[in-house]
Amino acid sequence: MDPHYIPGIFNYCDRWCERCSFNHRCEIFAEEQKMSEEQRDPDNPAFWDYINDNFRKVMGMVEAWAEEEGIDMHALQEEAAGQPKRRELPPGRKALEDLSRDYTLRTLEWLKAHREAFLEREAELNKQLQLGIDVRQEGLQLADAIEVVQWYCTMASAKTHRALRAYDDKDEWYWDSPLQSDANGTAKVALLCIERSLGAWEGIRRLLPEKADEIIDMLVLLSQIRRGLQEYFPDSDKFIRPGFDEVDAG
Ligand code: SF4
Repeated sequence: MDPHYIPGIFNYCDRWCERCSFNHRCEIFAEEQKMSEEQRDPDNPAFWDYINDNFRKVMGMVEAWAEEEGIDMHALQEEAAGQPKRRELPPGRKALEDLSRDYTLRTLEWLKAHREAFLEREAELNKQLQLGIDVRQEGLQLADAIEVVQWYCTMASAKTHRALRAYDDKDEWYWDSPLQSDANGTAKVALLCIERSLGAWEGIRRLLPEKADEIIDMLVLLSQIRRGLQEYFPDSDKFIRPGFDEVDAG
């Protein structure tokens, strides 16, 4: 790997590449920049050729790593094949997973239902601008807060789901320590998505006071998910994300 890139940085990020301060050190971002229009289009065979090439590349890397570590990949595959496909979560974790899915669905519905209100507010702000009242900041804040809520609403539940499902594996031998397990790191990213969403909802509440009651429901729901994750992963803040949490990554 080119030492310019930070290994594994993309495993614990929020995937918002255009806003990422480390995109110049991320191999996935660099690879995506090289993709042609055809390779980005799932209806085009070039897209699937690209996926296949990458899959072969990754498998080659995994096999080389396994050989170096003396791991029998064939035995591991057989063991995995004997496992039940999807483990049922215990009730507490299942309830938390359901809450996070509810949050995503409710947010998507809310954003869709209030598109008109956003447009009306935008028109109102434009009118004020024409009258010489400087409301640009307010307009930008609203647009940004909505974008943040929208971006993180699916990611928060996807990361919560993955963290809860990986919870039982956090003591496995292949992590440097339980603190550096995938479950703990993923929970850290889920919490980050939740905290940024809480801030953005608060901004929307200030800018659209007539929607305050509905927004408070979202804030309560998100706070419940945050509390639940913190209970399962009390040390998630100690996980060191490649690049983002390393002092010498600059
Ligand atoms: S590390 Fe940054 S650039 Fe790379 S995938 Fe994540 S958000 Fe995108």
